[in-house]
Amino acid sequence: MTRYDLHCHSTHSDGLLSPTAVAQRAASRGVDVWALTDHDETSGLAEARAAANAAGIRFINGAELSVSWHDVTLHIVGLGIDPDSPALQAGLQSIRQGRDERARRMADSLAQAGIPGAFEGAAKYVTNPRLIGRTHFARFLVESGKVSDTKVAFQRYLTKGNPGYVAHEWATLTQALDWIHVAGGQAVLAHPGRYPITTPQMRELLSEFRDAGGDAIEVLTASHTQAQTTEYARFARVFGLLASSGSDYHGPGESWADLGDMPQLPAGVTPVWKDW
Ligand code: AMP
Ligand code: MN
Ligand code: MN
Ligand code: MN
Repeated sequence: MTRYDLHCHSTHSDGLLSPTAVAQRAASRGVDVWALTDHDETSGLAEARAAANAAGIRFINGAELSVSWHDVTLHIVGLGIDPDSPALQAGLQSIRQGRDERARRMADSLAQAGIPGAFEGAAKYVTNPRLIGRTHFARFLVESGKVSDTKVAFQRYLTKGNPGYVAHEWATLTQALDWIHVAGGQAVLAHPGRYPITTPQMRELLSEFRDAGGDAIEVLTASHTQAQTTEYARFARVFGLLASSGSDYHGPGESWADLGDMPQLPAGVTPVWKDW
């Protein structure tokens, strides 16, 4: 059986391993078809592809785009994108552009809560100068002894209602879908079980996503419970969407699951890779 892992991160966004190291780890863990999906960034894809070829596994170009939908942040994974698409690159640059200013505001919020120096502290963990994110702040909060690990950092800080969280406008859903499609890719709603919305709102999101040309949803992702996997398999069937699978691996000690850990897709869904 072919093993797919179509969602993970490298040092080109907020992962801990280089694209080469992720490729080698994926291969050694039995992944046959692998996509690197860094946040709002494609700069790691060339290295990833070369390393995947060397390791004898198939590589799919990917990226995870940040989107604002009402007051919720969504992540849309693009698979099979052409990174040379000018429209995609302009779109990704527009998403990345706000990150520095947002990070300044996050640092101001933490300073008001008695944690000074967070911008500089987070910046030390940034491995791609174009891409500062909350994970870098989480690593700084661990280092400074405020929390025991990055998961607790997100429970006490950096999330809505907590110090270090600031609202931010990302791309719109239709923009993200258009950029992915213009670049020849498939658009996948990432980790749907993680969004803080009600079931009626999820139905509204899924119909809007499908009507705007969305292709698939992540039925299998490390943050889903068994019940959520079943629920999203059903949603995929009801809404006529394909099903994807990915670990969302970020690096040793920081992730719910390792590369290649996802089981087979549940019966009755059509995989996003059906025509690959
Ligand atoms: P950003 O795009 O800067 O808002 O950062 C989003 C990233 O933060 C996600 O891709 C995860 O890597 C990380 N993250 C968000 N929420 C959590 C959480 N509850 N626990 C661990 N990591 C999280
Ligand atoms: Mn991340
Ligand atoms: Mn995500
Ligand atoms: Mn991710």
